[in-house]
Amino acid sequence: MRSRVTAWREQGERVGLVPTMGSLHEGHLSLIRLAARETDRVVVSLFVNPTQFGPGEDYESYPRDFERDAALCRAENVAALFAPPPEEMYAADASITIHEGRLADGLCGRSRPGHFDGVCTVVAKLFNIVQPHVAVFGEKDYQQLAILRRLVRDLDIPVQILAGPIVREADGLAMSSRNRYLSDADRKEALCLSEALGRARELWDEGERDVVRLRDAAGEIFAKHPSVTIDYMETVDPETLESVSGEVKQLVIAVAAQVGPARLIDNMVLGA
Ligand code: AMP
Repeated sequence: MRSRVTAWREQGERVGLVPTMGSLHEGHLSLIRLAARETDRVVVSLFVNPTQFGPGEDYESYPRDFERDAALCRAENVAALFAPPPEEMYAADASITIHEGRLADGLCGRSRPGHFDGVCTVVAKLFNIVQPHVAVFGEKDYQQLAILRRLVRDLDIPVQILAGPIVREADGLAMSSRNRYLSDADRKEALCLSEALGRARELWDEGERDVVRLRDAAGEIFAKHPSVTIDYMETVDPETLESVSGEVKQLVIAVAAQVGPARLIDNMVLGA
């Protein structure tokens, strides 16, 4: 991987990296296309990173389909698909991890302790291996994106982070590799996430700026779906991820919920 990228860099080409865990969908493809617009060579990494899964989470069952992913990357003209086996990524006695100590505590970090340490560490490793000029992440994982911006800022990593908007199914459901865990009935229930966020956006567009009223509007929709277990719904500052209150100029409404066997996340950025 290094020697490929070194050769491209020596020819003056700009390299973009799109880190993924595979099972690619249109959300991933939109990031690949964004990277292709901004750089000369797009590298996609495909790595189901064991260190970002907690005990009892879905590391073993996470959907894997290498041949299909490789075909999709070929169709997008991806210059390299980097898919290392876990034992090549991590020494058996690896002993260094990167911990972000401010943004990672709340939201998903609260229910998934250690998750963002795994994310920060693997992304730093991917940056060191691939040495891209640009890396592209999705706003779907809003907290991850905010933390990774801190990673490159605080560790002076010379990689520019770009973000792509959330790609949704026609009915609003945010695309996710985990959506395939959903039965038809679960999938219908899962729509309440995007519906609730969409309701908050409607109010915002009508001029509502009061955090409590925006939250309540979303909450009313969740209340109609008792089978959906809300892990959190939070209204936070888009950059610091700190809770906001009162009247705001910008915010992110972030939600995580258990729907049948799947833990789903979604968010809506308002005003930023
Ligand atoms: P994953 O394979 O789920 O780890 O995701 C890899 C990258 O794709 C991350 O930067 C995600 O934020 C991004 N991503 C996942 N789903 C979507 C989506 N529906 N829209 C945009 N980006 C997404």
